[in-house]
Amino acid sequence: MRGFTFKVQKNISEISLPKINSKENSPTDFLGRTGVISTPHGEIQTPAFIPVGTKATVKGVLPESISELGAQAVLSNAYHLYLQPGPIIIDQAGGLGKFMNWQKPTFTDSGGFQVLSLGVGFKKVIAMDAETFRSDEVIAEKKSRLAQVDDDGVTFKSHLNGSLHRFTPEISLEIQHQLGADIIFAFDECTTLHNTRRYQEKSLERTRLWAIRSLKAHNKLTEERVGKPYQALFGVIQGAQYEDLRRKAARDLAEIKEDGYGFDGFGFGGALDKKKLNEILYWMASELPANKPRHLLGIGEPADLFTGVENGADTFDCVAPSREARTSAVYTKDGRVNLTNQKFNEDFGSIDQECGCYTCKNYTAAYLNHLFRAKEMMASTLATIHNEFFIVNLVDQIRTTIESGEYFEFKADFLGRYFANKVEVPKPARGK
Ligand SMILES: [Zn+2]
Repeated sequence: MRGFTFKVQKNISEISLPKINSKENSPTDFLGRTGVISTPHGEIQTPAFIPVGTKATVKGVLPESISELGAQAVLSNAYHLYLQPGPIIIDQAGGLGKFMNWQKPTFTDSGGFQVLSLGVGFKKVIAMDAETFRSDEVIAEKKSRLAQVDDDGVTFKSHLNGSLHRFTPEISLEIQHQLGADIIFAFDECTTLHNTRRYQEKSLERTRLWAIRSLKAHNKLTEERVGKPYQALFGVIQGAQYEDLRRKAARDLAEIKEDGYGFDGFGFGGALDKKKLNEILYWMASELPANKPRHLLGIGEPADLFTGVENGADTFDCVAPSREARTSAVYTKDGRVNLTNQKFNEDFGSIDQECGCYTCKNYTAAYLNHLFRAKEMMASTLATIHNEFFIVNLVDQIRTTIESGEYFEFKADFLGRYFANKVEVPKPARGK
């Protein structure tokens, strides 16, 4: 026992399907479940949405407010914190949670995605639509490459000042141990849908070898850093849009053991073709042991959260709720709306009449419309509180309705209404 556990509570496959759910699915097709992750800084009731605080802050919102809106954990980014303020400072502060005054569990991602995305351009979109996707959205040919990957690691230039750095699995794990988050990730190579099949195969093997090195480094650091709370290491499954590669990667990672220890959980990573999200997640989850948690990296759009949960994802993170909020886009039960729209300037009701968040309880849509138009900082703060609440609460409701057996009815009601008026779907995004 290393201070980290996951307990499955109820499987979606135990719920009897209502008539609305048609022929293509039988209950056994659903790999989703509810559960409880226990970490040294507390429990996470799953499924759960984890807000992103890239640089140890969810932009513009106090940690106290993030906690009050129901978030059970936050996820920060190893790449950004490595560059600024540096992992040693955060280690000296007593770890990420203590540094940012966050009392609940924390995650860090390995930095692999961030450093590799420097190599292929500056786009942060990781979930993409294969049909409309253009190579130049990911591969910025004319821009000078800021990262070079080889079998040992990645050499990259800081986006802050151009200084040269190198990440290897061992370095990423050392940084993540210094940051001290409860859940950390193996260093992986993140490919795009645009890479050739041959490259995907080569990259997958590289990621497998990096996973083994990550686990070894993790075991060594766990032993060396006596007295520190245990950090759980998740292996990250790649394989792009290929079924055989995704399944192989999941099987390989599930089998890896070093000194008797395997991964504590798994991350679903990499380029995810949105139209095939369902299948891709299913391929991976069906190869993984049921008793370990799975995190879906970089997904947070409402419809995708249902897809994620049904296909076995237990936790999610995404910058979308806060990033969208800062551009005045907010979620409502009737779809996404833009608060700068003229129609809100005399709307003295809340953004969403049914929302129980702090912003909706205390402020009007007209006031937010004014704050955004006047470019006041509080606009971002209030809109972010609403959006994070909306998504955290949505996943909490998914959890509650799986437990009560009303999941399929809830899903039909929610999505039916959310998409009834328009099809303006915010892009899921991962990264800064
Ligand atoms: Zn609200």
